[in-house]
Amino acid sequence: MRIELIVIGSEVLSGQTLNTNLAGIGQMMGDAGYALFQETVLTDSHEVLKSGMEQALKRSDLVIATGGLGPTLDDVTRKAAAELFDSPFHLEDKVVRHLQMRFGNALSSIEDQATVPSKAHILLNHVGTAPGLIFESSVGTLILLPGVPNEMRPMFAEQVIPYMREKFPLKETVFRKSLHIFELAENVVDTELRKLKEVHPLVDFGIYPGLGIVSVSLSATAKSALEAEALLHPPYQELEAFFATNCFTSDSGTIEEAVQHLFLEKGWTLSIAESCTGGALSARITQHPGASGYFLGSIVAYANHVKSQSLGVSSSLITEKGAVSQEVVVAMARGILSSTGSDFALAVTGVAGPSGGTAEKPVGTVWCAVLHKDGEPHIWQLHCPWTRKMIITRSINSLLSNLLTYSKQYNV
Ligand code: ATP
Ligand code: MG
Repeated sequence: MRIELIVIGSEVLSGQTLNTNLAGIGQMMGDAGYALFQETVLTDSHEVLKSGMEQALKRSDLVIATGGLGPTLDDVTRKAAAELFDSPFHLEDKVVRHLQMRFGNALSSIEDQATVPSKAHILLNHVGTAPGLIFESSVGTLILLPGVPNEMRPMFAEQVIPYMREKFPLKETVFRKSLHIFELAENVVDTELRKLKEVHPLVDFGIYPGLGIVSVSLSATAKSALEAEALLHPPYQELEAFFATNCFTSDSGTIEEAVQHLFLEKGWTLSIAESCTGGALSARITQHPGASGYFLGSIVAYANHVKSQSLGVSSSLITEKGAVSQEVVVAMARGILSSTGSDFALAVTGVAGPSGGTAEKPVGTVWCAVLHKDGEPHIWQLHCPWTRKMIITRSINSLLSNLLTYSKQYNV
């Protein structure tokens, strides 16, 4: 079965709007066992949309489009689709009542939004005002959804997926398992995957590198979860065993969730002293509900005198060794550990750039430390001469990866 997506919006083509609807629909489809075959982004022009949708309907079983359903003058999707399906417009009572109930009579666009192609089936919009539309005829099946992501997503999950299950029932589903490998190069992981692919030809292996974390997805098409598990389990287990010291799994696929899971299970606590990451590591950690169960807090010590006053790093050490040095990063870790009383501490200091680099310490030089209250510190240096944002993300991934590895010695 071929399903394709048309994303409508000049602002997506110009880069003003990031095309998250593609990612959102791709993921929701995948979760439901369907897969997108193709995507096209089109500008808000009547002629372009009409011919784009016509071609898509010819090559695909189901065409889904997002955007251009609203009441503003650039919204031309409804009209282009109605012409393709040869449908007149009418004022749909159901939509009028739904909008009046939610917004009263004051909403000026009620009449516009409730004027829909009479041949289309209506998907009520419980968040915004533009209803979704489903056209079905010998021309094909076309579903129009609002462009605003928080309107599109619930409409897709609650109304489109059930519709697809009824009209396009799946004979087979794609099942997936993921594993994340840290602090190893992509080619090391790739070499292993190539070997596994030879032994397990029915399994598809995907590899997604992300600044120190290589995510691997194993997928297989099967009639049941049991059948899929029989295909996926053996290569998954081999992969997990091969990368045992450098891998994690978590529901969200994030390393901070894996850290949280471990720390909550062990009853350990963590605190952090951040310089060049500016609080971004703490923000990643606290994005997960339940972080308060193990994360005590952090100090963002950007200026040297804050490193001294808040973390107890001696100013002569900073003058002698420099703020970006292994001596200072360890002192930062000791400082946060003693002020919070946590079991573990992480510390980081580096040159995030783009200015501030020297020949000795170029942009992307980052010193990291992890320390247990009764242990010796593990200290390491990163060289990542990239953009500021990438340096920060790489540092965070490295700190959390090393925390997982270092804490293993206390995992008894
Ligand atoms: P509205 O009723 O708000 O006009 P609409 O269905 O007409 O909704 P658009 O006008 O195409 O949708 O887009 C509205 C807004 O939705 C855009 O300004 C943009 O912020 C967001 N949006 C549109 N398309 C996408 C997309 N592909 N990915 C992410 N956001 C999008
Ligand atoms: Mg609009």
